[in-house]
Amino acid sequence: MTVSIADPQIGVAELDRLLDTAVSGQLADGPNVRAFEAAVADYCGVSHGVATTNGTTALHAALHALGIGPGDRVVTTPFSFVATANAIRLCGAPPVLADVDPETLNLDPTAVRAAIDGCDGGVDAILAVHLYGLPAPMTALRAIADEHDVPLVEDAAQAHGASLRGEPVGSLGDAACFSFYPTKNMTTGEGGMVLTDDTALAERLRRFVNHGRTDAYVHGEVGQNYRLTGLGAAIGQAQIDRLDDFVAVRRRNAARYDEVLDDHPSVSAPPDPTGSRHAYHQYTVQTDRRDTLREHLADEGIGTGVYYPRPIHRQPAYADVSATAPNAERAADRVLSVPVHPALSRDEVDRVADGLAGFEA
Ligand SMILES: *Cc1c(COP(=O)(O)O)cnc(C)c1O
Repeated sequence: MTVSIADPQIGVAELDRLLDTAVSGQLADGPNVRAFEAAVADYCGVSHGVATTNGTTALHAALHALGIGPGDRVVTTPFSFVATANAIRLCGAPPVLADVDPETLNLDPTAVRAAIDGCDGGVDAILAVHLYGLPAPMTALRAIADEHDVPLVEDAAQAHGASLRGEPVGSLGDAACFSFYPTKNMTTGEGGMVLTDDTALAERLRRFVNHGRTDAYVHGEVGQNYRLTGLGAAIGQAQIDRLDDFVAVRRRNAARYDEVLDDHPSVSAPPDPTGSRHAYHQYTVQTDRRDTLREHLADEGIGTGVYYPRPIHRQPAYADVSATAPNAERAADRVLSVPVHPALSRDEVDRVADGLAGFEA
């Protein structure tokens, strides 16, 4: 059996809640969704959570509610899942792509400054991604956002359970967006959420995700139906209770691989800088011989992933967006993610560790 790269943990707790919800008839929006929103907000120490259909719609709703519209510009990373940029495009705004740090693969604040300086009339928001579960450099990005008086948004789709100097991811921006897709650190099936401490923003979000509704059959604006289902929320309530355990196992598995890679001549372990708590959504190594390592691991029965083989400005859909991002381009050729998720058995973790150790430089 190949060691899989992702595997959601659905157990008795999820099934119990799912069954109760199904029998109660609360299949769509309702008390379960409110309870799930409160649980995620509480976990992150934030006052409001607004659940959505997925992570992409969470990002779209957040940017829209922050006032991003046609002609506005949002700075983000070229090295992310395409949904990050798509959410900006859904607002009618072109993304402005700033390069990443070559080691953390998160936005490089110096590149963000340069990208803003290169925009006539400045930018309207900064969207930071906590790639692979490693918190982006939020202190430096906050300083830049404040200097330009623009909102800072977290794409936390990969970073549930991560933190920076003790502050949970999800509480570090003006708004934070999660995805609960089955491959993420916790799941609701499809699903997402926006967190914010800003009550007025939360109200705009809640309106937008529910047809712009301000009262029963009164619609203040053209909104969307981005509502999470009650069934999804039921699974999510069980998952948020287990999130700390999930992340602890991810970190334990990562520590095992770190040990093996400590003195490896040609494969670098992902960085886990002091002060940050990496959630290891992915354990992503870098090597000049990525494709050879991938074949070697496949021969050992170990599934791997390349996230992402093309930076956003190299996607056909973004042919009109140019970027100077040599670090992102180099990373696209060098990254390889190995299985680190909590469904791995001890034996499977050993197999991955041995597979990495046995790679000849
Ligand atoms: C998964 C992901 C998204 C999108 O979430 P969906 O729930 O799939 O829509 C956005 N950004 C990043 C960084 C992601 O990993």
